[in-house]
Amino acid sequence: MEERYDFHNVEERWHRYWQDNKTFTVTEDASKPKYYCLEMFPYPSGRIHMGHVRNYAIGDVISRYKRMRGFNVLHPMGWDSFGLPAENAAIKHGTHPQKWTLENIAFMRDKQLKRLGLSYDWDREVATCLEEYYRWNQWLFVKMYERGLAYKKRSYVNWCPSCNTVLANEQVEEGLCWRCSAVVTHKELEQWFFKITQYAEELLSYCDKLPGWPERVLTMQRNWIGKSTGVEVDFLIEGTGEKLTIFTTRQDTLFGVTFMSIAPEHPMLEPLIKGKAQADKVRVFCQRVMSEDKASRTDEKQEKEGIFTGAYAINPLNNEKVPIWVGNFVLMEYGTGAIMSVPAHDQRDFEFAKQYGLVIRVVIQSPENDLVAVTMKQAYTGDGTMANSGAFDGLTNSAAKEKIADHVEADNLGKRTVNWRLRDWGISRQRYWGTPIPIIYCDMCGTVPVPVEQLPVRLPMDVEFTGKGLSPLVESRSFRETTCPKCGGAARRETDTMDTFVDSSWYFLRYCSPKEDKAPFDKKAAGYWMSVDQYIGGIEHAVLHLLYARFFTKVIRDLGLFDGDEPFINLLTQGMVIKDGAKMSKSKGNVVDPDFILTKYGADTARLFSLFAAPPERDLEWNEQGVEGAYRFLHRVWAIVYKLSDAVRNLKSAGSEARGDKLYRKTHLTIKKVTEDIEREFHFNTAIAALMEMVNEMYDYTSSSVTNDKLPVVRAAIDALTLLLAPFAPHFAEELWESLGGRGTIANAAWPQYDPGAIVATEVVIVVQVNGKVRSKLTLPAGSSDKDVETAALADPKVREFIAGNPPKKVIVVQGKLVNVVV
Ligand SMILES: [Zn+2]
Ligand SMILES: [Zn+2]
Repeated sequence: MEERYDFHNVEERWHRYWQDNKTFTVTEDASKPKYYCLEMFPYPSGRIHMGHVRNYAIGDVISRYKRMRGFNVLHPMGWDSFGLPAENAAIKHGTHPQKWTLENIAFMRDKQLKRLGLSYDWDREVATCLEEYYRWNQWLFVKMYERGLAYKKRSYVNWCPSCNTVLANEQVEEGLCWRCSAVVTHKELEQWFFKITQYAEELLSYCDKLPGWPERVLTMQRNWIGKSTGVEVDFLIEGTGEKLTIFTTRQDTLFGVTFMSIAPEHPMLEPLIKGKAQADKVRVFCQRVMSEDKASRTDEKQEKEGIFTGAYAINPLNNEKVPIWVGNFVLMEYGTGAIMSVPAHDQRDFEFAKQYGLVIRVVIQSPENDLVAVTMKQAYTGDGTMANSGAFDGLTNSAAKEKIADHVEADNLGKRTVNWRLRDWGISRQRYWGTPIPIIYCDMCGTVPVPVEQLPVRLPMDVEFTGKGLSPLVESRSFRETTCPKCGGAARRETDTMDTFVDSSWYFLRYCSPKEDKAPFDKKAAGYWMSVDQYIGGIEHAVLHLLYARFFTKVIRDLGLFDGDEPFINLLTQGMVIKDGAKMSKSKGNVVDPDFILTKYGADTARLFSLFAAPPERDLEWNEQGVEGAYRFLHRVWAIVYKLSDAVRNLKSAGSEARGDKLYRKTHLTIKKVTEDIEREFHFNTAIAALMEMVNEMYDYTSSSVTNDKLPVVRAAIDALTLLLAPFAPHFAEELWESLGGRGTIANAAWPQYDPGAIVATEVVIVVQVNGKVRSKLTLPAGSSDKDVETAALADPKVREFIAGNPPKKVIVVQGKLVNVVV
């Protein structure tokens, strides 16, 4: 063992060892329990950042720990390698996106990730931009097309003018592009969709069957899926025979409808205003509203605006005539594009009615019986008694909900129905660097999927990236022009590519058998490894990737390829790495380059710091003193092991015969604490703190010369410390392990077990009361009898002082805690 801890040498040696010995290569082994630990795979931007270091360090501790606990651990890594930055780099620098991407992957893998000492099975590396992967995207697309789960339709879609492509609803965040933050506009286009709505009910109900997920993520998914139950009611349009269908969850307020609001995009609008005096004004209003983005139109703070169409609808419940307005806050996408407005019981309608002087009518009276339409200051949305509602008056509104729904169905005015907020997933992207959609258009045969035996449809390499005009695929004649697989005639290919979120929707299955070439993955291998036991990544994927991956898993199950319902049993969403109060980002200029930390302090320090500074789910505040602290701790461990290594090298560790020894007890307390902290929500920070305490105790214990009979206890402490450190600082632990005569790699050593007999407290502190007031404290051997406690209490000088010679009436002993002397 070297005297000084030289992390350069140590880390390099063990990287080589793990690679040469394929320490982390795994295969299915039915004799062992399996554990699948997965971190969200990165986009190969060219450099890893501290957020990655943290994410992967967390996954690595879990993987190494489970391996030492006897699990067969699958811990793979790969690259989410399609996407816009590669294409933008191609436009800027003239390099092909594939070259740029593959170079980045090689650099990040060999020069960055491998330096961190992560226990990946690199034989399972997957890169989604390679045809051996993306051909299975295409295969899955064709299978979904055959089942009606992939379809094309013309619709208004989200369009990012800066990325020059369509975005899914999930990729628009408060009206901005998730990738570049440009304001999203709208465009009418023909697009491919995945029918995620077909799985809405199951995706929602399984939110209750994922106890290993953070409640926050499940809530976000539930809200995004957005199930609401209510009724659909038809309102006849006066004098036309046409009807407006509305959906409401508040059918108890149907008698309070005083106007209708429709979306400016509503297809019925033109027939409604035709020939009316205000027709032109309405058209101008609609044009203006439609040019605004939808997020701000539905924003609660946005001013509500509207215009009367001149037309009326008939409320089928009371045959009343109500005016039809156009409202800027009504969208075509949700519900039917038309809403009934009940200003007395809906705040938005209330504000609108006040603004335009429309009628307000109370139909649910509050328990205080104080609602009068003209004096209301805001809508009343609570429960109460039905009023102004014909035959339903006097019922509670919740009872009326059912009765009115019954009435609507019985009289054929509409029907009970369920509405979903979730929309189908638009996957067409008008860019090059993605999976080509395997569809051919033939004038004779129409839309023809590419037969699966002809897959992959390869991305052509001989294209130009100008950044102007249409996607390079549209410009490439050799790609575009093809023959029809059905009739052999001239045909053209679909030139859109798939959303890159398709790639990440099933990659965890591919890791189970990454070389499989007859199917997306081997069913048996997936049967062994899936589902992922622990998934780790950022909260920003709560309704994007995590929802899509759940959807794909269910589709793949229904294709008969996999026997599970959900991809991820447990989910950990780690916090961000922040510095000076903000998330590290280039634009804020507060980025710390992991390379700098690795070069100055080494991987074990970088890992230890990122695990010690905060529990995984919290944000981690970067501070270099903390890094220094982790570095000094490793030096301190090294120094004490070095000092003692010659004395203990050939000794056996102390066992239960050493019970009662201070260091022996501390060692086993630490084993217990570290194990429990890892098991209990991965509280690595407190686990590491316990290791630091134990090292202090070791210094204390060995500060003067250690007698020979104590050396086995010291040996036991060093062994335990080394094993407990192994998941956190693996190179460092390997080196100590080897220098103390450990066999093979510590990665395969067994996790230490604590000796329950060692940690039992030997003494207890007992509070002494006289007449219920605390008067003294006693330190007694643990397990002292009531009689012994009583005797000790009565002998205590302070107690004797307080009872002043009086014989005690009663002595009450609460075992291990207190004794009360009553006089
Ligand atoms: Zn964008
Ligand atoms: Zn054809």
